[in-house]
Amino acid sequence: MTDSQFDHQAIRSQFPILDMQLGDNPLCYLDTAATSQKPQCVLDAMNEYYVQNNANVHRAAHQLAARATQKYENVRMQVQHFIHAATSQQIIFTHGTTESINMVAHGLTEQFQQGDVILVDGAAHHANIVPWQALAQRTGAKVIPIPLDSNGRIDLTAYDDLLTQLPKLVALSHVTNALGTLNPVNEMVAKANKVGALTLIDGAQAVAHLDIDVESIGCDYYVFSGHKMYGPTGVGILYGKLNALEILTPMLTGGEMIKTVSFNGTSYGELPNRLEAGTPAIAEVIGLGAAISFLSNLPKIQIRQHELHLIQYLQQQLSQLGDISVYGVTTDNDNIGAVAFNLADEHHQDVGILLDQQGVAIRGGHHCAMPLMQSLQIKGCCRASIGVYSNQQDVDRFISALTEVKSILL
Ligand code: PMP
Repeated sequence: MTDSQFDHQAIRSQFPILDMQLGDNPLCYLDTAATSQKPQCVLDAMNEYYVQNNANVHRAAHQLAARATQKYENVRMQVQHFIHAATSQQIIFTHGTTESINMVAHGLTEQFQQGDVILVDGAAHHANIVPWQALAQRTGAKVIPIPLDSNGRIDLTAYDDLLTQLPKLVALSHVTNALGTLNPVNEMVAKANKVGALTLIDGAQAVAHLDIDVESIGCDYYVFSGHKMYGPTGVGILYGKLNALEILTPMLTGGEMIKTVSFNGTSYGELPNRLEAGTPAIAEVIGLGAAISFLSNLPKIQIRQHELHLIQYLQQQLSQLGDISVYGVTTDNDNIGAVAFNLADEHHQDVGILLDQQGVAIRGGHHCAMPLMQSLQIKGCCRASIGVYSNQQDVDRFISALTEVKSILL
């Protein structure tokens, strides 16, 4: 699929920041996995909320509050349909993936005891590791990493073996942020369900690229952030099966989440409010709604093919450059959104800085996945990542800038 086979420019032109000039160079943005850029419709929706509808939700009887509440609750239904959840009660607004996972890990404290096993994807983001370690510390449970193969992918045989330990919870990434590798979550969740484990899927790197169907995945919890799917920062989602949400002790208590309060005793409200204490990020939720509309209106098949083509082109161009190690790629060619690499023995930070001097924004580091880096026996790597607005020119500019970096460093 080439850009000319559908009007890709019409999509790209909705992102005003992409016209930016950085010094002498136009911006070449290849850091979408860290955060995506925002289309004009998201910026407009947030602006419109503040200019025309700003009021606190759920509380007052006045018209403005009713309008704000309706817009806020409409987004809950939009999210429900977007990820194919059965009811909107199962959609909890949070501030992001990190908060969503912490809410689950905190909320399950009373369900865990000494010796319980938590299996965690060895390639997970720290946000899907550290809250489980904290839960283990509180309860005496133990976290066991699911081993990876030499490509940084989950070793499915080792996973099967670990399931014989009857874990209480399995935490997986849908798509890994460092390498863009896709986990077979449907199959892995089905196996976890068979041994009675709760399952949490971190979808932060999946929602912007794949169709998400939480019912068919069958997981207990699915979490993601708005800012990686063309929405604003400060908003995220915790989806859960109703019974899986009901067993969570609220991490935050206070206004909005109660039924009655008295100094003799307080009772908590129903889902979803029970897990949404305090004033939520209303404008951000509304911005997320605009992002979902934006994503839903894209020509889905063409965009998927476009992204796939771009990732493969990126991998191909990198390997032709020479002196490049690429991580996490197999003959299946199923990487999503990102390519991780190193240039010879050069430090990823030096490569990133020299690319930045040419206007090319990529990411270098451990990508909040230190255990994965340890497993790959590297300190860190560079990562180029794409979004719906990325095009072949971005890849060509990146490769020519990297060629320049190579001539400087090697
Ligand atoms: N999980 C994954 C796979 C991620 O890519 C990220 C963001 N880098 C997170 C969790 C954390 O997301 P947030 O910072 O939005 O909470």
